[in-house]
Amino acid sequence: SYRKGGYHAVRVGDQFAGGRYIAQRKLGWGQFSTVWLAYDTRTSTYVALKIQKSAAQFAQAALHEISVLSSIADADPSNSKCVVHLIDHFKHTGPNGQHLCMVLEFLGDSLLRLVRHTRYKGLPLNKVREICKCILIGLDYLHRELGIIHTDLKPENILLFSSIDASKDPVRSGLSPILERPEGNPTSGVTSLIEKRLKRRARRAVAKISEKRDSMGGAGEAQKSERNVEGIDVRCKIVDFGNACWTDKRIAEEIQTRHYRAPEVILQAGYSFSVDMWSFACTAFELATGDMMFTPKGGQEFSEDEDHLAMMMELLGKMPRRVAICGARSKDYFDRHGDLKRIRRLKFWPLDKLLIDRYKFSGNDARELSDFLLPLLDFAPENRPTAQQCLQHPWISGKDSTPREKRNEASVEKGHVGMSNLRIKVGK
Ligand code: ATP
Ligand code: MG
Ligand code: MG
Repeated sequence: SYRKGGYHAVRVGDQFAGGRYIAQRKLGWGQFSTVWLAYDTRTSTYVALKIQKSAAQFAQAALHEISVLSSIADADPSNSKCVVHLIDHFKHTGPNGQHLCMVLEFLGDSLLRLVRHTRYKGLPLNKVREICKCILIGLDYLHRELGIIHTDLKPENILLFSSIDASKDPVRSGLSPILERPEGNPTSGVTSLIEKRLKRRARRAVAKISEKRDSMGGAGEAQKSERNVEGIDVRCKIVDFGNACWTDKRIAEEIQTRHYRAPEVILQAGYSFSVDMWSFACTAFELATGDMMFTPKGGQEFSEDEDHLAMMMELLGKMPRRVAICGARSKDYFDRHGDLKRIRRLKFWPLDKLLIDRYKFSGNDARELSDFLLPLLDFAPENRPTAQQCLQHPWISGKDSTPREKRNEASVEKGHVGMSNLRIKVGK
């Protein structure tokens, strides 16, 4: 990827924008770019420098991302909306071509790494709630004030940020509570001494953790992870607007990363802001359990899409026929009765039961979380609550006027109807 049209190879100390920004270390990378911690000599702060690949289609994508990020920054001058802030942008010419560069506020580790840090056991629910609130503030801002659909919401695209001003002191701000350094990066062409040292330190840290785990046993490690996570002031921001679109200017038909993809996108039945709400629910589940909500796999007899739809129905009940048959691709998966063509026997395992049986949630925690998530996973997009409505939900706002016994009765009564044709799922 470090060739003409591809990534720009960066060395620690490289200067950008006429010497204004100085590269410090690599923060991450994606399909389109590498992202570096850089020192802004003009403002004496640290920033994240996203350096796009140079080929025309990447430049085009960067221009789009810059226009989205600009409108986000323009409408939120106080930078309080849980969405990453664009500071500057410029072009940088290197041996592989001309690269568009975005200067973003410097944020911390992604929620994916935070989940990995719990050894995929999930975060304590009070932390999940704090994170969800931030994401919802960001989504409400994007959706209601700007008319922007993110279209690629997932733990990887939500980054932690600290109340201590990270741009001034990235080390002490505690932005990177995670011990591992990025792995599997495309090599930057040059591995700096600093990077090597960081890697060595990370390996030692990871080795130490595994030693401890071996001596403490699995449960001990889980407790330790939770303690570490408990200490983090958890606030976060939504990043990666490369695929975002304005609701009146939708670009792509196939949007979202597979596991976070809404059913109407699979069926090609049109989409709106509510696709982000679906991905948000999948993300919240993953934070709470450490597992992705849906992990479809294609088989010999059926496609990944069909498996995905089947998994959705095993968790959420049968898709209403009206919804199932209304997409351009509906006929590929559903017969005219609204049943899947190639996957006939679904094993129903409702969310609250799954949380209790597999993830050992208490009855109450399971009910509260599934009461919050299930409306977001409504097959009919127009029925999903908006981010604004979610912010009012007692699970988020903490304001609940209904006495506990009443709530329990209500969720028992609601139950799951129309499931008699589905078998109870016994294991994944
Ligand atoms: P994708 O293939 O996901 O579209 P991309 O090339 O558009 O990737 P981003 O997802 O924006 O790149 O960024 C890549 C990685 O760089 C992120 O996953 C994250 O680890 C890191 N990163 C991005 N923005 C920031 C930031 N503002 N502060 C700190 N790290 C960041
Ligand atoms: Mg990304
Ligand atoms: Mg991107």
